[in-house]
Amino acid sequence: MQSGATCLEVVNGDITGLDYDAIVNAANSSLLGGGGVDGAIHRAAGPDLVHECRLLGGCKTGQAKITKGYRLKARYIIHTVGPVWRGGDFGEPELLASCYRSSLNVARGHQLESMAFPAISTGIYGFPMPAAAAVATRTVIEFLVAQPEIFRKIAFVCFDVGASAIFQQALSEALRM
Ligand code: ADP
Repeated sequence: MQSGATCLEVVNGDITGLDYDAIVNAANSSLLGGGGVDGAIHRAAGPDLVHECRLLGGCKTGQAKITKGYRLKARYIIHTVGPVWRGGDFGEPELLASCYRSSLNVARGHQLESMAFPAISTGIYGFPMPAAAAVATRTVIEFLVAQPEIFRKIAFVCFDVGASAIFQQALSEALRM
């Protein structure tokens, strides 16, 4: 699918093997590694990643920081900290939107043209997948409408076919808005 100059796609699979300028990591606030996609990215990138992460001094929820990609095909990793789902009345949707915006801004600051997002907060942090997909796709499209010439390609990477179907539908709906 297309938004301005940007190709938007939902990709099913493991984000660690993808060849984008940057992949986004759903990190925790320490930035020192964890479970889920964070653990997979640290294992695939190798031990130099955690050394660079130690220098960053952590990251607040909704913000993003960049490192090199080390052994990954992706040149960079953008680490963002999603909100823990506490029922939805504690600013979780706005904080999740902030993760996507902050990551896009960091990528723009490094003149990156392609990036791949995992479904931030939908694993260990418990954000319901349909609500997370709506926030993710709307936020990215709003950014692309405001700044149509920045990115060539953006992917939403889902680990299973159920999540991919939810993201595909959310993307279609967000593009109609
Ligand atoms: P969070 O703590 O932000 O919830 P998780 O890593 O637990 O982060 O999960 C975020 C999403 O990433 C989940 O939907 C999970 O299924 C997915 N995921 C886990 N490993 C990978 C991977 N290697 N590639 C892509 N997505 C992954």
